[in-house]
Formats: sequence, C-alpha cells, structure tokens
Amino acid sequence: MVRMTVLASGSKGNSTVVSTATTRILVDAGLSCRELMRRMNAAGEDPSTLNGILVTHEHQDHVQGLAVTARKLGIPVYWTEPTHRAWVRWLTPRKRITYAEWLEQRKSAANAQREAADRRAQQSESNSSDFSADAAGRNAPAGSLANPDPEELAAAEEAITETATTPEKDPTALPAIEYFRAGSPFCIGDIAITPFTIPHDAIDPVGFVFEAEGVRIGLATDLGYMPSNVSVQLRGCDVLMLESNHDLEMLRDGPYPWSVKQRVMSRVGHLSNDATADFLAKGYDGHATWVILAHLSENNNLPELARISAERALRDRMSLLANRLLLAEQDRPTETISLV
Ligand SMILES: [Zn+2]
Ligand SMILES: [Zn+2]
Repeated sequence: MVRMTVLASGSKGNSTVVSTATTRILVDAGLSCRELMRRMNAAGEDPSTLNGILVTHEHQDHVQGLAVTARKLGIPVYWTEPTHRAWVRWLTPRKRITYAEWLEQRKSAANAQREAADRRAQQSESNSSDFSADAAGRNAPAGSLANPDPEELAAAEEAITETATTPEKDPTALPAIEYFRAGSPFCIGDIAITPFTIPHDAIDPVGFVFEAEGVRIGLATDLGYMPSNVSVQLRGCDVLMLESNHDLEMLRDGPYPWSVKQRVMSRVGHLSNDATADFLAKGYDGHATWVILAHLSENNNLPELARISAERALRDRMSLLANRLLLAEQDRPTETISLV
C-alpha cells in the first residue's frame, strides 16, 4: 500500500509525506521541525522512520524547517546541486566590506599569526640557549620558525574544523547530502523517483513523479505555466497534486504591489485556477483516482473558486472512482490517501 498526506500547502509552508510499508519520504520541509513532526504523527506517519527529505526548490516556504528536521532525525537531504548551493547562500549572511576594511582584516590576521609565532619561539628559546625569539618572531615568515608542537597544531586544526561544522555555528550543516538531476530517476528504498524541471523563479526547481507497488504519484506545484515536459510526466498518475495558486481577478484587484502581481502571473510564477483548469480539460489524461489542488494563495484565491474551476474542467470525468478532488490546506494536513 502506498500512502500520501499533504501536511501543509501554501505560501506559509509546504510539505508532503509519501510512504510504503518500508520507505518514508518527506517532500519539502516548509514548516518548523516541531510542526512537521506534529502533523506527521497526526497523519499516522512516524517521523523517526523517515528515510530522507526531498527538496523541490530553495524558496523559504519549502525549506523553512529543513536543516533542523534533517539534523534532528539524522537523515539525508536530496536535492540538485544548484538548489543546495542557493540554500547555503540564503543561510549564509554575507557582509559586504570595503577594500580598506579587508586590508585591515588581513593585517590583524597577520599580526595574530606573528604573535603566535612569537610565543612559540619564546617557548623553544627556553629549550635552546642561542635562539633569538625576537628576531625570529619579527622577521621570519609566520609558520616557518621554531618547532611547533605537532600535537598542539593538530589540536588547533581540530578546533577549527569543529567550529566550521558544529550546527550551532554553521546553520548549513546537514547529516548527509545526496544530489540528483532533473530527468535522472533514482530510488530511495522501494520508491522510484523521477525529478523533472518546472518553470519557476528559483535556481533549479523540480517536480517529482513517485512510483512504488505499481502506483504512480505526480507532484507539480510552483510553476508559471504547464510546459509539455511536465504534462508528459503527469500522464498515467494515480494521484495528481497540482498547483491552483490564484484567481486571476482576485490577484489583479488584490493587495500585492504590481511588481509582485507580475511575478506571480509570469511564466516563472504560479499556476492560476484558469491555467490549472485548462490543463485538466485539455492536457490531462483523466487517469487519476485523486486530483489534489495545492499551493492555494491565501490572499488571491478562495478554496471554492479553485474547486469550482477544477470541477468544471473535469465535469465529464468525475465519478466515484476517478478524479476525486481534494484541496490541500495551509493550516492542517489533508486526509491520508491510500492506494493499493
Ligand atoms: Zn517557489
Ligand atoms: Zn512555494
């Protein structure tokens, strides 16, 4: 049996869990670790048995709780290399400094090195009578004089590595990292995963198809339009999770600044109810048992509008067994879908 629960969906956080009897995967970790665990437990999915976290893209609503969750559970994060790098940049605050400040930093680093060398030289002076600590310390390049205690050096190096990887010090530290590429399928346990490229304003965004026990699940949110490579991937899915982000009129008349409205409506923004309905009516094969509408905007959409729009598109295909509609919510998990 394959199970799927959307733990949260929307601009305040996204996360979905897909599991079989032996494998459990989290797709995105856009809520706090504590909230993710609470919702997983509520959905009957034991967080301590998670095999890994897959990341679609580096936007905050998909990675908010990523590092803490991965570290707490000691599990790997799967993403593309550019997405990992973008996430690291996002978490590493960079202070811009002037050239003069940079020179000053270099000077004080050199001074610190020299002082350390002086101290070592003084130490070895006490061992050898004809060694001039002063001359050696001031004139010789740092590191080339005296005989630093190898143990002391090793300890210093260890201390440096430790500060670089301690989670409290380094917010980007993770237990393990696995890279995948869009278009190259891979497996986690008994779940086969195919990542595919989606058009969105992130560095290397992807959607996923999961296959296990003959069940196929397609997941595509955060995309500006429906390109043919995506609609091909979404063929033959038993569960189809699709973005239905905004109602165009609500977005146009809504509170966002014009630049943000343009971004949302752009080819690298989000799918509108109309765009999703258009795909469901014309590009979709009608195969899915469940169609989940996801990533609904709180400001520019209403669940009823998204639902009516999709229902209209699926009008002739809805039945007791096919194309049942489910709306993913921001504040609570969906019911758990089980497929055999
Ligand atoms: Zn996004
Ligand atoms: Zn998003």
